Amino acid sequence: MELYKKTAVELSDLIRKKEVRPSEICESFLARHDASRDLNAYLHLDGDAIVAQAKILDSEKITDETPRIFGLPVAIKDNICTKGIPTTCASKMLENFIPPYDATAVSRLKSQGAVIFGKTNMDEFAMGGGCAAKSASGNGTRNAPASDVSTVPTSRLARNPHDPSRTPGGSSSGGAAAVGAQSALFSLCSDTGGSIRQPASHCGVVGYKPTYGAVSRYGLLAYAGSFDQIGPIARTVSDAALLASAIVGHDPLDSKSDPSAKLDFSQIEHFDMRGKKIGLLTECFANIDADIESAVTNAAKTYESLGASVEKISIPLIENCLPIYYTIALAEAASSFSRYDGVSYGYRTANAESIDDLYVKSRTEGFGSVVKQRLWLGTYLLSAGCYEKYFEKALAARAMLTARFVEAFEKYDFLLAPVSPKGAYKLEESPPAAEAWRLDKCTVPANLAGLPAISVPCGHDANNMPVGVQLLAGRFNDATLLGAARAFEKAGFV
Ligand code: GLN
Repeated sequence: MELYKKTAVELSDLIRKKEVRPSEICESFLARHDASRDLNAYLHLDGDAIVAQAKILDSEKITDETPRIFGLPVAIKDNICTKGIPTTCASKMLENFIPPYDATAVSRLKSQGAVIFGKTNMDEFAMGGGCAAKSASGNGTRNAPASDVSTVPTSRLARNPHDPSRTPGGSSSGGAAAVGAQSALFSLCSDTGGSIRQPASHCGVVGYKPTYGAVSRYGLLAYAGSFDQIGPIARTVSDAALLASAIVGHDPLDSKSDPSAKLDFSQIEHFDMRGKKIGLLTECFANIDADIESAVTNAAKTYESLGASVEKISIPLIENCLPIYYTIALAEAASSFSRYDGVSYGYRTANAESIDDLYVKSRTEGFGSVVKQRLWLGTYLLSAGCYEKYFEKALAARAMLTARFVEAFEKYDFLLAPVSPKGAYKLEESPPAAEAWRLDKCTVPANLAGLPAISVPCGHDANNMPVGVQLLAGRFNDATLLGAARAFEKAGFV
């Protein structure tokens, strides 16, 4: 069997038994990538550098202490800093940015002997759901304004490996497409409002967003700092756990990193669902397509057959989670994106006549229209009068929603919901922005409350495209979350 077809757990075992070398694994994935270039899964991939990195590992001694991730290739989303390797956020603003440092998650991978395997495609600055070019105009017309030099052409968007005419979802479009196409073993991605789980669901792979604070955000180029979290997209739950184990843990370089963040995934294989209580999040089942509802409802039945009790739970505030999320996320983005000013780093216009002109033209030319639309809205939300009326209100509502989740987890071990209300759409049928935002309804609650959440393949939609089911758990119950996800996977969906 070709090496690229094996799981990370299997390949790790083969390395430890000295039956394969890291460079052989990388070569297998590089050949696979060659055969699937049309998916645009990668923005940067230097095969020679990858093999050179792996060859150094080939000669290292393997002992019982060798980390599980040793010798395995990890693809990295292009908003996570990799020293000496371009990190562009799929934006003209950063097209020439080569970070002088590694994100903490990346340096942890390297120190354990993982191979950095290319940078994966994404929506610009992680804003969107895999349809950046189409929703770029943001006003319902399909074509971005001709003056918008930084809009990504459709030809550069990542494509779904199960049907290349459809979106892989986003914003971690390339990471999910690469894992789904087996041109990556697994990938490190980011989730601000669903960007790990939603593309994982559309591409038939596993996407896990850890508890906020469990994985360092240092070196993750911020979209909205109070939501952003790094996590894995992988072929199986066990592979996701293997990658997550290598990156979790406290990091003094991230002020939101939790000092007590220690997650032990070693027991997930044997997790027993008997006696566990699952709540179905009623509000997330409203207004979803019938094919999605039936796939997710079947997943709930599988859990019942594994011995869990399943009942409906209502958290009415979820109906308001989109305005709460977008108000806070865009306000945070408007604030943190002030760093892209054409002066310190990033794109600088060639035609400035004054310092104000430099700021305006650099940002106008450097950002795509989705990003600009969001920054305008975020700036407005933080303006005098609006701050109290919208931003502070959203913060208060977020605190209320978080409290409702704390109450829910006093009664239930897990909450279950769809990932996306719709399956993967055709790239040329990408919805306009306002409609696209509605597709985030089932994923943003976990980000608002800082909860761990995972998407696991559970069936197919009416177009025979993959569909994922989402499980949520209480803060720092990540290991039981992955245990429950693994129990589901073992029941017959992998
Ligand atoms: N689609 C959501 C947004 O655009 C989530 C994006 C993300 O998680 N990075 O905000």
